[in-house]
Amino acid sequence: MDSILSAYEMENSSIVKEFIELAKIDTFSRQERAIVDVVKMKLENLGCTVTEDDAASKIPDATAGNVFAVLEGELPGSILFCAHLDRVQNGFGIKPQIKDGIMTSDGTTILAADDLSGVAAILDGLRRIRYSGKKHPRIEILFSVCEEIGLRGSYNFDASVVQSKFGFVLDSPGRIGRILRSAMGKAQLFLEVTGESAHAAYPERGKSALRAAVKVLSSIGDCRVDEETVINWSYFDCPSPCNTIPDHVLAKAFAMSGNNEKLDAYIRNFQETAAQVAEETGCKIDARVIVDYPAFHTSDESICVRLMQKVFENMGVKASVEDGAGGFDANLLSRWGIELVGLSTGYSLNHTVKENLVVEDLYKSGKMVANAALTYAEL
Ligand SMILES: [Zn+2]
Repeated sequence: MDSILSAYEMENSSIVKEFIELAKIDTFSRQERAIVDVVKMKLENLGCTVTEDDAASKIPDATAGNVFAVLEGELPGSILFCAHLDRVQNGFGIKPQIKDGIMTSDGTTILAADDLSGVAAILDGLRRIRYSGKKHPRIEILFSVCEEIGLRGSYNFDASVVQSKFGFVLDSPGRIGRILRSAMGKAQLFLEVTGESAHAAYPERGKSALRAAVKVLSSIGDCRVDEETVINWSYFDCPSPCNTIPDHVLAKAFAMSGNNEKLDAYIRNFQETAAQVAEETGCKIDARVIVDYPAFHTSDESICVRLMQKVFENMGVKASVEDGAGGFDANLLSRWGIELVGLSTGYSLNHTVKENLVVEDLYKSGKMVANAALTYAEL
């Protein structure tokens, strides 16, 4: 590949070295203590005021909280940069290696570029801003924990400490230049029906939990409910022998939508239908819902999209604004009224042993962070 980096720079630029240093710290969701201590020290050395929140006390077995850091600026305004410190399983003993401009593990572990490329880019961006000597706005950094186990860190983060009205979450697969303006929300649905068993020869003496459950599910629709919403009923348990009227059913689904009103409407219909079928059948029906995170959608006219387009234009990077699918910290942080987009930092095949990172994209990601802070002043 054509590269702006020499082979020497590829191995020795400070961002690459820092990425490798972080990747070698054995980490897993809930076990972020060591990496949290390291990044807190790095942020302090960069002149930030650093705090760790109490998320560890709210997440079972967690060992560290979210890290929130502030680099005060001379210019008005504030920008938030966010990445997560945890990684999926198989992230112990990572041995990063670079060949033809691509970084991989040795093939036995993940690389953890999801999301250490984001963490390293933010640290590198801060360093560049400091050394530029240029005036900049207030810069806020959130390094979250427990992202990979359902965004538990950002769920428990009290974002009232954030002054920024907008920000960037560096946590998306793909080449640099990709701007994610949206991601779907997700909920878990549980349908539990308790009927009354009876001998199969005398069905009128029992109340079939199975008939009631099927009635609910056949009334509410599933799979692609509309162009923004998908519901996947994937589990149905009815542990009853064939000579007995079944008295218990448990069914489960994932619901995902790019539109929070549509997801709410489906959930409402699910619960109302369940109540109605309970009345008709005499079964006890529990229709439980856990909303994991809402969808978010940031306008193309928002400052974060416009600022990043300008940054990429200055850097000669082709920008593309896209809609995402899976949730990430931006979904939960946007609940606090912060306008956010996701940014790619050059990794792909994340969560697998084939995970790889385009080294030049990592290098540019650090510049992207610094440019965003310095360009904001000109906007
Ligand atoms: Zn991630």
